[in-house]
Amino acid sequence: MYLRVSVTDRCNLRCTYCLPEDARFAPSRTAPDELDRLMAAVCAAAPVTKIRLTGGEPTICPSLLQHVRTAAWLVPTVGMTTNGVELERLLPDLRDAGLNRLNISLDAADAVGFRLSARRDHFTAVLAATRAARRAGFTPLKLNAVATASSDPVALAHLAIAEGVHLRFIELMDIGIAHADWSERHVASDALRERLIWGGIAITEATDRDEPTSRVWTVDGVDPSATTLGFITTVTDPFCGTCDRIRLTSQGRLHTCLFDERGTDLLPLLRAGDQRGLDAAIKRAIGAKIPPSRFQRSGIMAGIGG
Ligand code: SAM
Repeated sequence: MYLRVSVTDRCNLRCTYCLPEDARFAPSRTAPDELDRLMAAVCAAAPVTKIRLTGGEPTICPSLLQHVRTAAWLVPTVGMTTNGVELERLLPDLRDAGLNRLNISLDAADAVGFRLSARRDHFTAVLAATRAARRAGFTPLKLNAVATASSDPVALAHLAIAEGVHLRFIELMDIGIAHADWSERHVASDALRERLIWGGIAITEATDRDEPTSRVWTVDGVDPSATTLGFITTVTDPFCGTCDRIRLTSQGRLHTCLFDERGTDLLPLLRAGDQRGLDAAIKRAIGAKIPPSRFQRSGIMAGIGG
């Protein structure tokens, strides 16, 4: 199974589909050690082979390195999804702590598009971090771009090819503040691929998926070990049948689906020292994992980690 851990709700960007400019964050309910012990409890109760740290923005979590070390002790594959703003200076320590997979979120191929999406001016820092991560040997290095009606998929594809990184387009999901104008902003992956082809990017579907959640295309004339284009089709072609993801939040809740709003509160059991109850609660939640009745979530994405 694949465990995603949201180490903080807080973020240093305000992406227009994710967080309002005046976002207010509840204090984290878990102390760093409690979050680590919950991670360990989930790994003891379920066959987890991969942990991804996310948020909010994991690089602004003061205890990030501690969580990476714990994750690396628990499973062989430890990844992180980050907006990359604070990443470059942290790369050596993250590597040493055991991080071995990195996804960097980048919705635009230039500074103007970046500001329109993230409401902040950090394009140069994110591009520099992407290059530094590649130099530091993080492979495969992936850029994640949320696709909206104002995205420029052709420019993003050119950027990925030039930088020698993989690019994954994520369909905009009807989550949190994205709900308000979701139907106007959402773009289906089929339409994105048409825009790529019209923009001169010749693509061919690869037979393999790199993860159960994304379909992958190669670009004609481009080495597929360096760059592929993937599409995470949560909206137009959900992958619930192959989804083995579970999510733990800094609020101490276990969610077996991105659209499972309530989750299971594990913190009281942890604090009571009820190891057997904790184990049983985790197993019960995972055993009851089912596809969502609707692909909608009212809570903010930053709280559960995307
Ligand atoms: N701060 C980190 C980052 O930017 O990668 C990690 C957390 S962020 C919530 C994880 C991913 O979720 C990002 O790639 C982000 O763009 C994506 N995301 C946020 N809201 C979304 C939405 N409504 N639909 C699709 N993806 C979304």
